Amino acid sequence: MHSFESHIRSVPNFPKEGIVFKDITPLLQERFSEVIEAMSQNIDWSQVDYVVGIEARGFILGAAMAQLKGKGFIPMRKKGKLPPPVIAETYQLEYGTDTLEMIMEQKPARVVLVDDVLATGGTLRAAASLCAKNKLEVKAMSLLINLTFLNKFKEEGLPVVSVLNY
Ligand code: AMP
Repeated sequence: MHSFESHIRSVPNFPKEGIVFKDITPLLQERFSEVIEAMSQNIDWSQVDYVVGIEARGFILGAAMAQLKGKGFIPMRKKGKLPPPVIAETYQLEYGTDTLEMIMEQKPARVVLVDDVLATGGTLRAAASLCAKNKLEVKAMSLLINLTFLNKFKEEGLPVVSVLNY
């Protein structure tokens, strides 16, 4: 039995120079149900209404977690994919900006926010603030991988669950 780490491929200089890309596809292929169970631990699911998954790898992981825990799933997508009415959040990248969108909620709810990799944290912060704008209280954030040396989420005491920490 291999550990989860042995199924993660580190690919230097992808998608651009200087980035070490964590490829989770071998892990999904070999250990999918265990990964989903691990990402669902240490969360009080009695306090959660829905899982919000961030496009695109957050869909694979978040949808499976929602199924495991008997919750509904909400997709958070890149700009222009969802029909109106949408709520948007634009955030800064190294070069330029990016925008996340979700369908406007009618009533308040409590959610778990899911993505594959937490790197600098820009995406997850934008996703959390978009949820807040959209009446969705973020009870926990669940990541498969936290590149802890690139962000301060732990020190800030944010409700982050991560399976693998580098
Ligand atoms: P960040 O906003 O810097 O935290 O980046 C998070 C987003 O970019 C996530 O949706 C990840 O899928 C992707 N990402 C960032 N860095 C990496 C990396 N080293 N390996 C794989 N995916 C990454």
